[in-house]
Amino acid sequence: MTEAALAFHRRIDAALADAGLRRALALTAGRLAGGRAAAFDALTDADACRDDARRARAGAIARLDSLLDQFAREASARGCTVHWAETAADARRIITGIARERNIRLAVKSKSMATEEVELNEALEQAGVRVVETDLGEFVVQLAADRPSHIIAPIVHLSRQDVATLFQEKLGATAADVADIPSMTALARRLLRAEFLQAGMGISGVNLAVADTGSLCIVTNEGNGRLTSTLPRVHVALLGLERIVPGAADLAAVLTVLARSATGQASSVYTNVMTGPRRHHGGPGAGPAGEPDGPEELHIVILDNGRSRVLGTPLAEILYCVRCGACLNACPVYRLIGGHAYGGVYPGPVGSVVMPGLHGLEDWSELAHASSLCGACRDVCPVKIDLPHLLLEVRREAASRQLAPLWIRAAMPAYSAVATRPRLYRWAGRAAARLARLLQQDGWIRRLPGPLGAWTASRDFPAPAARSFVEEHQARKAAAR
Ligand code: SF4
Repeated sequence: MTEAALAFHRRIDAALADAGLRRALALTAGRLAGGRAAAFDALTDADACRDDARRARAGAIARLDSLLDQFAREASARGCTVHWAETAADARRIITGIARERNIRLAVKSKSMATEEVELNEALEQAGVRVVETDLGEFVVQLAADRPSHIIAPIVHLSRQDVATLFQEKLGATAADVADIPSMTALARRLLRAEFLQAGMGISGVNLAVADTGSLCIVTNEGNGRLTSTLPRVHVALLGLERIVPGAADLAAVLTVLARSATGQASSVYTNVMTGPRRHHGGPGAGPAGEPDGPEELHIVILDNGRSRVLGTPLAEILYCVRCGACLNACPVYRLIGGHAYGGVYPGPVGSVVMPGLHGLEDWSELAHASSLCGACRDVCPVKIDLPHLLLEVRREAASRQLAPLWIRAAMPAYSAVATRPRLYRWAGRAAARLARLLQQDGWIRRLPGPLGAWTASRDFPAPAARSFVEEHQARKAAAR
């Protein structure tokens, strides 16, 4: 097993041993999954809505090149500055450069997995820019020097009491400040309002970009995305290059299913569509007084970081993803081990395809084995991504590159040799069943030897029946004659 795979297994063991984590996950992931189910049940034709969203995303990915060109042209024509970042390092260099040239000392950020992916906060801090996360969950993550453990619910792994203790330790919060969730939210809001007013730069991710108008769509529930993108003088939006749709109709198709899948809401509380920076007196559509708010400069950084390598491969369908997080909430594995165990920015079923897709199979293919392939992720995906099929693609590619553990590589040809010879297979089955029955106690096998012991480490194995299915069938047929 590779060092990366061993580290993954160690993180899984640690997560399984953490009863508090399991309670927190069951509560929040269960609530989000239940909200999603109710929201889709309430739609008259939920399946058709998912088909529409899938069509919008598939159509966009099929002509990504031309849509990106069109988007860059239209956004530039409306006063935006468009930058292209091939790698995470390019994105960090471009954004820290924008901050340095304008002598920015404080930046406020709304939630963005793309900025986590490129490790932007660390780069900005090194460049002398204090970064403040303004999404409540991300604010807590930053305070705890932690990492998000879910795409849309970054502190799914923490309980209310964990956050209260953190606020008391780090913010000097009083007992009244942390008496309940509204009090804690009010405290965070008071602190963040001051930061919004002083920040020289706002940074956001982008849910979707609209090619024919050069617009950016950002959805949030806390309004922090709107404050981040309107109050500071400079705004930087980091856009994963796959997050594009041709026009407003496709945007609407995706928004119809996005919030329902993520949180069970019909729509997010704030859906912002930004087209260009603030327009002044006399500008097109600005009216005589100009616009009252908005950034003076709007920079859009289009991030590749491995995405274009996925295009045209068997994993390309993962580029349809709109990062709703529904597949995490539905996944029985994620619900037991949480996001940190996966080790990357994107956890759960989607992360098990995205991470090897973007960053290579060598360090990330093992994630695809953390799945029972039950199909729950595919059933809830708003754009109907066939995640089990993609997980099998990752496994297949890893096996073809000899990345599977040595014992699997040795065992599979041997299994294949036996399984393709019916008489040998029946004989081996009978021998294995006899041996297994020697290990049974009260009809259960509690410990299997060697690598098979991984199966019984966390569950018992039923002892094989005295007769195989074929033997039983033949016996009954003979008796009926
Ligand atoms: S793969 Fe589907 S369900 Fe999972 S985050 Fe992406 S869009 Fe949502």
